[in-house]
Amino acid sequence: MFPGGEDVHFAESIRTASSVVVGAHVDPDGDAVGSTLGLVLALRSIGIDASPVLPSSDAVPQTYSFLPGSELYRHVADLTAPDLFIALDTPGFARLGDAEPLARDARKLIVIDHHPDNARYGTLSIVDASASSVGAMVWGLLGTLGVEPDARIATCLYTALVTDTGRFSYSNTSPEALRTAASMLEAGVDVQQVFTDVYESRSVGALALIGRTLERITCVQDGAIAYSWVTDDDFAETGALKAESENLIDEVRALRGARIVFLMKLNAGAVRVSLRAKGGADVGSVARAFGGGGHSAAAGFTFDGEVDALLNVLLPALTEVLA
Ligand code: AMP
Ligand code: MN
Ligand code: MN
Repeated sequence: MFPGGEDVHFAESIRTASSVVVGAHVDPDGDAVGSTLGLVLALRSIGIDASPVLPSSDAVPQTYSFLPGSELYRHVADLTAPDLFIALDTPGFARLGDAEPLARDARKLIVIDHHPDNARYGTLSIVDASASSVGAMVWGLLGTLGVEPDARIATCLYTALVTDTGRFSYSNTSPEALRTAASMLEAGVDVQQVFTDVYESRSVGALALIGRTLERITCVQDGAIAYSWVTDDDFAETGALKAESENLIDEVRALRGARIVFLMKLNAGAVRVSLRAKGGADVGSVARAFGGGGHSAAAGFTFDGEVDALLNVLLPALTEVLA
């Protein structure tokens, strides 16, 4: 898995570090939180006092607050630049939000990521675009670190894997991903409990927000492109939390025949866009053209402007990559 010996360099850097902070991208998803906490618990199990940091946020997303170790998260303001910063699931400095200075000023920066557009901005950058999730990459590093994974570590890293593969359904669900999941289960993951915690613990407001999303589904290009949107008012009126909207886009991708779907989150003058491709279309290239990034099948960006202006340029760009 690490043909360049990156795992050995990684282990050496860890062993010689006097302080370690681990962080991931802003608006953290299951892979960001799960891989961060899994690595922190793993490092602590071998006597390294690592701390997880929350970038540009006050609180752990509620969906993932069940994860072991979530109480260890520290705010950026309470930390100083460490000897070693480990950036997970984060393709470039800017996506670290207000944790960026901690990473820049650290003596050593290790990047572990699976985004194909990763800028390799670390002193050591371990990037594997074929990896299903960073959680699975961290799992693959445990042996070299001398960590014997327990159920807590496995639960964090399994949550990263199960969420980034869309519950073992997206195109990144490789035989390797399933073998990794199997060994995580052997280490004690309660699969049913993780499923309930991640996917069956929505608030009534979050379900009402799904209703609004479904009502607004709009099809173009004979249904090959489908989209929907939610506004800040929708969040206020339903009571749904922003952190509960991570999987809203999946409701749109359920549509038969849709090959590209997107969801727009509208707030005062800006539109946050999540793009997904169900077939082979590369929506990552479209996201990059709009100043964002991501994978070919899952990407995102933020547009400063009104929704009509956005659709005028986004729909032609997506139609182009459909062909
Ligand atoms: P999301 O739609 O927020 O679930 O993001 C899907 C994928 O696109 C993830 O891999 C993100 O890391 C990436 N992504 C989303 N927004 C941005 C952005 N503004 N810049 C770079 N990458 C992004
Ligand atoms: Mn992520
Ligand atoms: Mn990821």
